[in-house]
Amino acid sequence: MTLSFSVLASGSSGNAFFIGTEKERILVDAGLTGKELQRLLGEAGIDPASLTKILVTHEHSDHIKGLGVAARKFDLPIYANEKTWKAMENSIGKIPLDHKFVFDMEETKTFGDLDVQSFGVSHDAAEPMFYTFHHEGKKVALVTDTGYVSDRVKKIVEKADAYIFEANHDVSMLQMGAYPWNVKRRILGDLGHVSNEDSALALTDLIDNNTKRIYLAHLSRDNNMKDLARLAVGNILQERGFDLNKHIELHDTDPKTPTPIFQIV
Ligand SMILES: [Zn+2]
Ligand SMILES: [Zn+2]
Repeated sequence: MTLSFSVLASGSSGNAFFIGTEKERILVDAGLTGKELQRLLGEAGIDPASLTKILVTHEHSDHIKGLGVAARKFDLPIYANEKTWKAMENSIGKIPLDHKFVFDMEETKTFGDLDVQSFGVSHDAAEPMFYTFHHEGKKVALVTDTGYVSDRVKKIVEKADAYIFEANHDVSMLQMGAYPWNVKRRILGDLGHVSNEDSALALTDLIDNNTKRIYLAHLSRDNNMKDLARLAVGNILQERGFDLNKHIELHDTDPKTPTPIFQIV
């Protein structure tokens, strides 16, 4: 059985990601209303009743808005690190004790036939972390909501078969745009989000012959455009000698439409 995934929704209005094997069907984040999440799962062809658990990356509302509702409605255990649990406790409603699990930063857990490794990122939340997923020699890396991609993170996420990777903003659109100065500072800072250019530069260090697809994620609605993100990242990758027509497909993601399920073979 293969490793398959869908970016159900991505962007500052809400994030949710699905990854599955034969035995495990995991939701990462539930940053949309329960109703919207159900619609997205339906559109991607995923039966909510088949889900096995929810992993959380951090407590920002675009990642946990529907977490409590989804966990209760679909009877799912939640995994997050202790600081994230503390930070989100008051906003997700009551979760039964036997559905609360700790997933420490830089820990690898085995769920059935899927290994999941967490790693910390540089972002203004309590203890933000993202994940790589490993199954039968295949690897998927999920990295968004980080101000920069450290060498430590690069070591963990390198050589994946597929990347869901942040390309949040175009720096000049952000600088010229209407956001207040302090918000611009936050986004551009080390604890904010990765720009198209920085995303591409990090990716050039990460991808190798195994890499089949890159999904640009967490695109800003106000400071980026899908075409621009793909063009900016694509140009830099081509410049560095990666053949996008031959080996690697570059995709964008959407806040309201799930990507078709991709099976890594
Ligand atoms: Zn976010
Ligand atoms: Zn965030």
